[in-house]
Amino acid sequence: QWIYLDSKFVRKEQAMVSVFDHGFLYGDGVFEGIRAYSGNIFKLTEHLNRLYESAQSIMLAIPYTKEEMEQIIVETIRKNELETAYIRVVVSRGPGNLGLDPASCSRPNVIVIAEELALFPKELYQRGLRMGSVASRRNRPDVLSPQVKSLNYLNNILVKLEANQAGVDEALMLNDQGYVTEGSADNIFIVKNGKILTPPVYLGALEGITRNAIIDLAHQHGYSISEAPFTRHDVYTADEVFLTGTAVEVIAVVDVDGRTIADGTPGSVTNHLLAEYRNVVQTDGVQ
Ligand code: PLP
Repeated sequence: QWIYLDSKFVRKEQAMVSVFDHGFLYGDGVFEGIRAYSGNIFKLTEHLNRLYESAQSIMLAIPYTKEEMEQIIVETIRKNELETAYIRVVVSRGPGNLGLDPASCSRPNVIVIAEELALFPKELYQRGLRMGSVASRRNRPDVLSPQVKSLNYLNNILVKLEANQAGVDEALMLNDQGYVTEGSADNIFIVKNGKILTPPVYLGALEGITRNAIIDLAHQHGYSISEAPFTRHDVYTADEVFLTGTAVEVIAVVDVDGRTIADGTPGSVTNHLLAEYRNVVQTDGVQ
């Protein structure tokens, strides 16, 4: 496996980052998770835009243009002879001294990893996930916007730990007002009386690229879909609940805080949107 690291390709075993890199010392950096299907990189422009916006927000100057970054990503996939891949792009502040001031870091570190995707088991899509609400919150949007995919993902890790402790597959995150926002690394949708709802991102969710693709697909297929605040009660009483994300695509949730959702099996809207999504990703993307 070849890793793009610090302007060159190195073998996985040699792909080492300095212990003085502020990405390591302080979680100072940004990242993206992207997928390629049969040679097409899905929504690459959207992922690059989000990466550069995250970097802009934390005053991190990525040392490549978006076009150069696109080339690096395409090259990384080619070099690893992959068609279908999970791609992780990391831009850290780079090595500096032990003080937290980024001024000591002379050059950001750009890393691109492309590997065979570890697919979620088929059974999980057939059975659906169990979710539990957690106490941990993301940072308030006025402190650190949830739109910044920073290397400091501790809040989301705490959320995942809480879910693990509770013995559920995924965490249901709420904001300070108790409105549902998202999962630990995925967006949430509910279906009630034929209407699909997802929380507006201003409540504190990442504007997921899969989320936006699903909103588009739902419109195309004539569903009523809107962004609207909802609470756990609305989730408990929904006809269907599903999550979206680059890695998971679209997956049903069949139990939330011990409440069985409808008949406890993945619903027809969820299954339909998953099928349409899997269709679109095969043909839509950067070659
Ligand atoms: N929410 C969070 C907190 C995430 O980290 C992610 C993905 O990384 C998502 C949602 C889903 O976003 P996307 O569909 O762009 O992968």
